[in-house]
Amino acid sequence: MGIIKALQSSTGALLTLLYPPHCVICSVSLEAREYLCEACKSDAKRIRPPYCKICSQPFDGAIESDFSCANCADRRFHFESAVTCYRSSGVVRDLVHRFKYNHEYYLRHLLSAWLKEGLEDPRIGSKPFDLIVPVPLHPSRERKRQFNQAYVLATMLSKQTGAPLSNCLKRIRKTPTQTRFDRAERMENLLNAFKMRKNMGVQGKQLVLIDDVFTTGSTVDECARVLKNAGAESIRVLAVARG
Ligand SMILES: [Zn+2]
Ligand SMILES: [Zn+2]
Repeated sequence: MGIIKALQSSTGALLTLLYPPHCVICSVSLEAREYLCEACKSDAKRIRPPYCKICSQPFDGAIESDFSCANCADRRFHFESAVTCYRSSGVVRDLVHRFKYNHEYYLRHLLSAWLKEGLEDPRIGSKPFDLIVPVPLHPSRERKRQFNQAYVLATMLSKQTGAPLSNCLKRIRKTPTQTRFDRAERMENLLNAFKMRKNMGVQGKQLVLIDDVFTTGSTVDECARVLKNAGAESIRVLAVARG
């Protein structure tokens, strides 16, 4: 065993001794170095068919064919589809919130594993992509939060897949939170909020745009519009949770 390997493995053993693994939700002790116990893991609601083929909104009922939900039926997004594997409720919403607002940076491992499950969805996995692009935060918000959650998740996905990350978008306008706006107000709120950084070629590229939560799609759609205007061939969205 090399000295580095030996050090790493003894550091790991020491860490386990000092901080025995426990569930990040209910604190029960765990055998393996994991983040959730089986009970809390089963509380994360996986999105199962039927769901909207564009935005992954689950549909509570029996439906056999592909369908678009009411949110997507009369809209033309600038992205092809938005893939999320989990509903933003219960433990998922709680952990995304703790990651973003409570500086619990270590939760990136768990959240990026949930994000990565989306690669198996044929809407993402059936054709290759050239670049991974995170939704940017306004610099003042990023300073306050200490990191951009979408950038952190995109970096981890880039390492795992080998697809390069491009931080080609920047947020030039600080926008108030969208939750209380209707669709027209959201579009107005986002107008000119994003811009391409200089000399960041996306021409002819197939992109995967990363965010933590997908809710109405207005933010990622505005990002996709800017990327399309810069010559991107296609944009698919991948997010951890469906709000
Ligand atoms: Zn637990
Ligand atoms: Zn939809």
